[in-house]
Formats: sequence, C-alpha cells, structure tokens
Amino acid sequence: MGIDVDRIVNSNGNSTDLITCSICHDILWKPFTCEICENSFCNDCISLWLEKHPNVCPNNCEYKQRQRLPLILVQLLSKLKILCKNQQTGCQDILSYESLEQHECQCDFQIEQCIGCSKAMPKKERNIHEPLCEQVELQCHVCQGKYKRMNGHDQIECLQNCLIEQQIKIQLLEDKDKQQQIRLEQLETRLTTFENLNNRRIIQFDDVFESNREHIKTNGNIDFNYANFIWENFIYRHISSAIYEDGCMMNSNSSNQNGYLRVNAFTQGQEYVLSSNSMASPYQYSYSFPQLGSSYPTITSSNGTFDIHSIDISTIIPSSQILVTGLKDDCELYTKTIFLTNNSTRIVLEWLNIDKLSFRLAHPSGNTQMFLSRLILT
Ligand SMILES: [Zn+2]
Ligand SMILES: [Zn+2]
Ligand SMILES: [Zn+2]
Ligand SMILES: [Zn+2]
Ligand SMILES: [Zn+2]
Repeated sequence: MGIDVDRIVNSNGNSTDLITCSICHDILWKPFTCEICENSFCNDCISLWLEKHPNVCPNNCEYKQRQRLPLILVQLLSKLKILCKNQQTGCQDILSYESLEQHECQCDFQIEQCIGCSKAMPKKERNIHEPLCEQVELQCHVCQGKYKRMNGHDQIECLQNCLIEQQIKIQLLEDKDKQQQIRLEQLETRLTTFENLNNRRIIQFDDVFESNREHIKTNGNIDFNYANFIWENFIYRHISSAIYEDGCMMNSNSSNQNGYLRVNAFTQGQEYVLSSNSMASPYQYSYSFPQLGSSYPTITSSNGTFDIHSIDISTIIPSSQILVTGLKDDCELYTKTIFLTNNSTRIVLEWLNIDKLSFRLAHPSGNTQMFLSRLILT
C-alpha cells in the first residue's frame, strides 16, 4: 500500500526507518500518525487495521490520530526522488513525493485496455491503436445504428434507408390525416343531416282525422285536403284494405302474381299510405305527351311553395318506370326518372321552391299503380 523502497533513487543506503509504514513496511503513502506512540502508517494500511481493531493502535496503545504530521516526517518525505510506478512499461520519469500522484494519473506508460479488442497496453500505445482497432464499435449518427469498424457502414445506403423510412412515416401520417379528415366530414354530414331532419316535416298519413278513421278502414279510401296539400288522383289506403285486396288477388288465383304485393307499401310500420289510381300511358287518355294532365297523380300546395327532401315510394308492378316532376306556376323545374320496386324505397329529390309534384309514366305505353308511404319536406 506504500511505495516500494526500490523505487526511491536517492536513499543512498540510508535508513528509511523514519518514513516506513509499521504495517506494510513500504515507504509511507498519505500517512497518519498515532498521537500516543508517534508511529505513522499509510492511510490505506491504518484504515484497514482500524476496521478490524477499532480504536487500537498497531502498537497496542489506544489509537488517537494526530492533527498534523510531525514536521520531520514531512521534510523527509519531500526530499525523496521516486521512480514512476510504470517504469517497467517504459516510463523514465523521476518524481518528487508531492508530484507523484498527479504524474501517475496522467502517465503515458499507464497500462490501459483497448475498448475494442480489450488488449492491455500502455496509454501512449492505446492512443494510436484504438482509433484503428478493427474491433472498436462505432455508432452512425444518421441512423444511430452500431457497427464494428471492421464491418464498415455504407453512409449512402444508410441515408437512402433513412429517407425511405421517413417517407413511409410521412405517408402513414398523411393517410391517417386523410382518414381523420374523412371521418370528420362524415360526422359533419351526420350532424347536418341530423340538424336538417329536426327542421323537416314528415308526412306519413298517420294523422288523418280520427273521425274518418273507421270510414277509411272500412272503405279503404277517402278523399280530402290533407296537410295543406291537394291530393289529386290519389286515395288513402289503410293496411287492412291492402291485406284484404292482396287476399282477394291470391284467392282469385290472379294471373298477375305481382298483384298481391300492395301490402309491401306498409313495410316500414306505416298504417296508412297514399296510393295512386292506376297510372296509364298518356296516349290511352289521349293527352299529348308531356302535357301534365289532371288525370295523373299530383300533389299541390294549397298555401305557397314548399321544399321537398325525399319520397318513399313502391309499386305492385315492379320495374315500372315513372317520371316525377317538380313544378312552380305549372313550369317544370325538376324531373327525375324512378324505377319502382315492390319494396318501399326512399328517393332523395332535394327540390326547392316548388308548388306541385306530378307523377307520370316514363314510357308512352303501360300501366302501373304506385304507393307513396312518406314525404319528407324541408
Ligand atoms: Zn503501509
Ligand atoms: Zn500508537
Ligand atoms: Zn510515468
Ligand atoms: Zn484494440
Ligand atoms: Zn447509419
């Protein structure tokens, strides 16, 4: 723990007793002195001793540490000329007691290990070896990847890979953004639809006057000005009458198998629907096409214009093709061709500012009957 006597170059055979540690018998290193017996010991030596023998001096007195070292001891130590501990690995330096510690910390001949191959060598050699050692692990500052010097790392390839990765990341972010945008739009649309629906007026023929209820049920139809509209060439029909008629059709074994599907008009839980009388070709009635004659089913506002969102419509003769027309002051503003089916289908119109809806056949021959189960006005 102390300094080997052999490293003292100016001992000249003189006794080193006064500066020798009583524990390790080497030259004292960072010594402390016992106040009672005046013996000195290396710091490490006395610390170890006291761990095993608390408060007892190696000389058997009660150990009490002297505040300061004896002056003579300091003077003797400072006269020493000492060889560096790395003499065997090539250091030729001779140092004073005071400068020894600092020198040995920085000595070029200190043995150190290469961080790559772990080979031990003097610091001086390591400084040259390590920057070239093939085993040293390096880190790429582009991709942060680690690699051994001997394996190399292609910077251009690395940059290209990084670029591709970044592009993929950007693409993913953009896709995500797009999806969120679409989702947002869907939500906005739903909100708008919801808001609009709140303002909509739905006519579904379920609030026909209670006083006429039995009459309608019994007779299957009634004709009056309902919901501020004049319904021409339509009849109100109660589900009981549709069931009755379909039943009759089936019992009579009609050749027209489609004829007993009137009841399909009621599939959306409706009790009442509006049914046209048979819609025949205009030629059969000798009207010149496309005149909107009064024998076609029409719905006319009895107080100003209205905006229509949609109609729910079906037929007993599937694939009938009809034209729905929106008019104002008998001028045709909108027309839409509709293929009717057995099942009630919502046809969105979104027509604004009209005062009449007219229905007629799309082709100059044929015949159909249609059912209107719901009108949605905005
Ligand atoms: Zn010692
Ligand atoms: Zn002592
Ligand atoms: Zn040295
Ligand atoms: Zn190495
Ligand atoms: Zn890289």
